[in-house]
Amino acid sequence: MKHQAARYSDVTLHVYNSLSRSSEPFHPIDPPFVGMYVCGPTVYSDPHLGHARTAVAFDTVFRFLRFLGYRVRYVRNITDVGHLEDEQELSGEDKIAKRARLERVEPMEVVQRYTVSYHDGMRRLGCLSPSIEPRASGHIPEQIDLVRKLLDSGTAYESNGSVYFDLEKYVRSESSYGKLSGKVFDDLRTNTRAITGEDEKRSPLDFALWKRAEPDHIMRWNSPWSEGFPGWHLECTTMSTRYLGEEFDIHGGGLDLQFPHHEAEIAQSRGAYGHGPARYWIHSNMLTVDGQKMAKSLGNFITLDEMFAGTHERLERSFSPMVLRFFMLQSHYRSTVDFSSEALEAADRGYRRLIAGLHNAEQFLAEELAAEAGCTAESARAETVGARTVAGPAVDDIARRGMSVPLPSEIIGDDTHTHEVRRLVETCWTAMGDDFHTPRTVAALFDLIRLTGRDEHKTAPHGTQVAAARTVRGFIRDVLGLSPDTEGISGGESEKSRLGAVMEMVIELRKSARASKDFAAADRIRDTLAAAGIRLEDHRDGTTTWALE
Ligand code: ZN
Repeated sequence: MKHQAARYSDVTLHVYNSLSRSSEPFHPIDPPFVGMYVCGPTVYSDPHLGHARTAVAFDTVFRFLRFLGYRVRYVRNITDVGHLEDEQELSGEDKIAKRARLERVEPMEVVQRYTVSYHDGMRRLGCLSPSIEPRASGHIPEQIDLVRKLLDSGTAYESNGSVYFDLEKYVRSESSYGKLSGKVFDDLRTNTRAITGEDEKRSPLDFALWKRAEPDHIMRWNSPWSEGFPGWHLECTTMSTRYLGEEFDIHGGGLDLQFPHHEAEIAQSRGAYGHGPARYWIHSNMLTVDGQKMAKSLGNFITLDEMFAGTHERLERSFSPMVLRFFMLQSHYRSTVDFSSEALEAADRGYRRLIAGLHNAEQFLAEELAAEAGCTAESARAETVGARTVAGPAVDDIARRGMSVPLPSEIIGDDTHTHEVRRLVETCWTAMGDDFHTPRTVAALFDLIRLTGRDEHKTAPHGTQVAAARTVRGFIRDVLGLSPDTEGISGGESEKSRLGAVMEMVIELRKSARASKDFAAADRIRDTLAAAGIRLEDHRDGTTTWALE
């Protein structure tokens, strides 16, 4: 295989490390390889806006690392057992078993159903699949091994068929506990209430690595200690080690997982291997709805399906996944983002402007290619963009196209216009290199699009025009993961693009019918499509989008 030069040697990347609470230059252990573990969902209910926030944040990290030419192994787990209702104490009913009991189905039916709906939501949001997506229940032997290791090292103890991490003892020899979350162990101890079953534990803050199953507990496996199930914290340490090694580059997750989950992961790794699991800890911030934390009890808990169909009462109408993605990228992943119908409305307009700019850039590049190859711009365009999937280009293509987007130093020309283009291209790179600062990147792209719309751009040096178009395309499509709205399309990839082409034509026909005041024909087109399950939506700016019902 031919090795290409990679952008990462020319572009500086700084990452905010939650562990040191500072921005650090990114140096992977073994470049070009990067190992990244992100805590995935517990699959017991439909994916919601909170899931979308975390997934989009880390998808963008994944994309930009690929764009820089890193070979990233992105592992995101599926928690399908052991996530108990009380996350602090690791006690209470298993979230999946509870749902199975309420719905009177097998736990694995719950897991299957909500894994599928999670994947579906993420695909619609343009999130690339992780490289490996391990399930906790598929790694029970490895988890038992890790419990054994912790027992051997003396940082765990068995009690009545369960095994607990001896946090009291660990903290006595490890001053690092609490470093990630900023918690002070003594304060925690003072504030921890006694709970049922505590008699099994030596100290209330000790957490379960393995739990003996009560007789009515459905999900259970054999172990040297009891028939039982693994603890939630243990699962992530096991799966990250299994696929990325005892020490890897990035560990990510939502900020709500920082404590106790990630603190426990660090303790487990140090207890078993003598060091923490990851060099860089990245946490994405939370999402609020109309200024409030999202909670079922507040009536502001919005699932992705409700969002995309516009069925939640907090929504004035439906918004497409791409608009939601764009909305989230307008905030830095470490800021909170407040969701509201008005904010989405504004994001919808911004997204359309950005995609119009993308369209022009791709049209320009297609004409370039056509001129070179002596074919029509349409077939060249199909050649360059037709093969993409709804979720974006294949992961390997991202690295390839990252190389085709110029660095500022590669843009030659001394005229004022070229200077401006160069400056904005530079901002795109440096903003993403500054802890994945998507809002600044988006702002620079808007400026670049505005600049390329000016008359002087058409007379600018050819290289400047190409550089601008490639930057717009590369950063919008590959880094930000935004693409023209094709929401609602189902079926195979070729079927999707075929249907997309037909719909484009039908929408054009209806437009010309309306232009010539043939409203009966226009309505007939809309009604016939509706009968076939395709809904048209006319927007104020004169465009029409479509979706499958
Ligand atoms: Zn985790």
